[in-house]
Amino acid sequence: MRTIDDYNFSGKRALVRVDFNVPLDENHQITDDTRIRAAVPTIKKILADGGAVILMSHLGRPKGGPEEKYSLKHLVERLSSEFGTTVKFASDCVGPEAESLAADLKPGDILLLENLRFHKAEEKGDPEFAQQLSKLGDVYVNDAFGTAHREHASTAVVARYFPNDKVTGYVMQAELDNARRVLDNVERPYTAIMGGAKISDKILIIERLMDKVDNLIIGGGMSYTFVKADGGQIGSSLVENDKVELAARLIAMAREKGVQLMIPVDSIVADQFSNDANVDTSLSHHIKDNWMGLDIGPNAREQYAEVIRNSKTILWNGPMGVFEMSNFAVGTEAIAEAVVDATRRGAYSLIGGGDSAAAVNQLGYADRVSYVSTGGGALLEYMEGKTLPGVAAIERNDY
Ligand code: AMP
Repeated sequence: MRTIDDYNFSGKRALVRVDFNVPLDENHQITDDTRIRAAVPTIKKILADGGAVILMSHLGRPKGGPEEKYSLKHLVERLSSEFGTTVKFASDCVGPEAESLAADLKPGDILLLENLRFHKAEEKGDPEFAQQLSKLGDVYVNDAFGTAHREHASTAVVARYFPNDKVTGYVMQAELDNARRVLDNVERPYTAIMGGAKISDKILIIERLMDKVDNLIIGGGMSYTFVKADGGQIGSSLVENDKVELAARLIAMAREKGVQLMIPVDSIVADQFSNDANVDTSLSHHIKDNWMGLDIGPNAREQYAEVIRNSKTILWNGPMGVFEMSNFAVGTEAIAEAVVDATRRGAYSLIGGGDSAAAVNQLGYADRVSYVSTGGGALLEYMEGKTLPGVAAIERNDY
């Protein structure tokens, strides 16, 4: 696969798919610029070569037409100050205005296109829309790992129109390299920590990890489906009743394969789903009626931290509890601290996207783990062994 380092952008206009899906507050101010900062090295390399950059991204979930709160124009100021130049903006990502702004670009210029998802054609992977986008640049760079598992016009289909001029950017490259580090030739003990709301989202990855890890730590809402499968009383905790049998199968599979599957021995329980609820500690197998487990308990915290601290490779996806509520964030914080500690002692730690990445960032630990992935779904699919359309489109010659 050709990467950005294999390409000289001198005199070229690079059409770069970035992931600028950043959170904005009600005043359209960026509240977390991690994704923008991540794309900087790719953009700088193109500019340093003497190229011009055309940035395209989605933002939020518009319904298929323009919506002020999802406009990428809110990023122009931030980008202009980052690169010390006035970033131009096209109020539609395709059409005459975008084409003429793109045609006028000089080396060193940056053009930002309006939200791709203001066109339904983007998510449909419409080839005609992709072709319109392709007219804007001479070379295509895919640096949006977070959407690489989608076959959208800008993430995959557009690559068809650049048979000899398509490369991956630095974010994409780093994401793939780091994902590979927890898949092949890992240093042991290898511990995977799986949390979050549901098992159903994570079945395939849990099954795949069974062949690779020494320890599989379970936390978050999905714990209670495992506890139920193990014969416990879980009160009104979150449960996927149609997955109880599967959880039982995973418990048996772990035993067969010699994997230590850990379910929280105790939980922080609450009498309602609220930060103001009455709170107690309970064995996870004996939660009272009408009470629900919203975080791992103190003994689980200690057991988990001990295993994590003794690990050499760590993969973490999903919070240990309802960490958005301060009373149920303690488990997630304790795990984050243990991961940081292990990393300091030489372990390799990969934090997989979504909420666990948010938790690590929120705690200010992002620099104290080995890598924080920007792609939740894409990372999971890659780890499940699936081909990512965004990566395949760059790799394949016949696409
Ligand atoms: P996911 O998107 O699957 O990674 O799940 C993340 C969400 O799971 C977060 O919003 C958490 O609040 C939620 N969550 C974690 N633990 C629990 C729990 N014990 N009960 C209900 N929801 C939970």
